[in-house]
Amino acid sequence: RLAARGLVHRFGETTALAGVDVDLVDGGSLAVMGPSGSGKSTLLHVLAGILVPTAGVVALGGREVQSLSEKERSLLRRRRYGFVFQFGQLLSELSALENVALPAMLTGSSRAQAEEAARQWLGALGLAGTESRRPGELSGGQAQRVAVARALVTRPEVVFADEPTGSLDQATGHDVMRLLVESTRAVGAALVVVTHDAQVAAWCDARIDMLDGRVVAAGAVPGSGVGPRPGELEAIRATAVP
Ligand code: ATP
Ligand code: MG
Repeated sequence: RLAARGLVHRFGETTALAGVDVDLVDGGSLAVMGPSGSGKSTLLHVLAGILVPTAGVVALGGREVQSLSEKERSLLRRRRYGFVFQFGQLLSELSALENVALPAMLTGSSRAQAEEAARQWLGALGLAGTESRRPGELSGGQAQRVAVARALVTRPEVVFADEPTGSLDQATGHDVMRLLVESTRAVGAALVVVTHDAQVAAWCDARIDMLDGRVVAAGAVPGSGVGPRPGELEAIRATAVP
């Protein structure tokens, strides 16, 4: 369980976070909304241990994250978190399969194990047949699905996504986002996702709205939990079994 209390973050004179509390239960999903400059990315980076807050506490499973050393936080991110960003995050010289396999290899899997897991994840996300393509040979939506596979291949406890569909058209973006929400759910990972799209937020369990570094509205999303397409979740779950 990821929890934050009284988060404040300043960049010089700018107060990006002005006292934010967040609670994320195991396997829960949280959408972070709000206008440009309201502090969404800063909050995500602080929750993920990328930035150390100026004040306040972030705890994962009761253990404070912000007091860990940079090296410990880096290991935590690599081993227990997954990340999906807006674009440009895949290594252009590696194939789709190698991009997905890499984080698994960095956390101790053999190349064979990592590539097998990567192949399964690509299949579960509808990307069978693209294994040997480089990112430049994929559509934007395919590339983002590869990024989702890459974020999940290490079986993280929490996935952090910052406007992962911002560069896609709406239909493609919804497809990617639905797969992100459903597949993180299927592996039991929690999800924190920054989005401008209220429909996407509606697929999450809870939502916060930020303004000027504060949470101005918070709550469960009524009517969340739009179901996956028939057979889809079974395919993802089958993949999720080690
Ligand atoms: P957007 O929707 O445009 O991505 P955001 O809600 O993610 O916006 P943040 O990136 O968290 O907003 O920025 C919050 C505030 O902190 C803004 O005023 C921004 O200018 C400032 N800020 C963010 N990163 C830095 C930085 N590295 N150095 C200085 N100021 C920063
Ligand atoms: Mg941002």
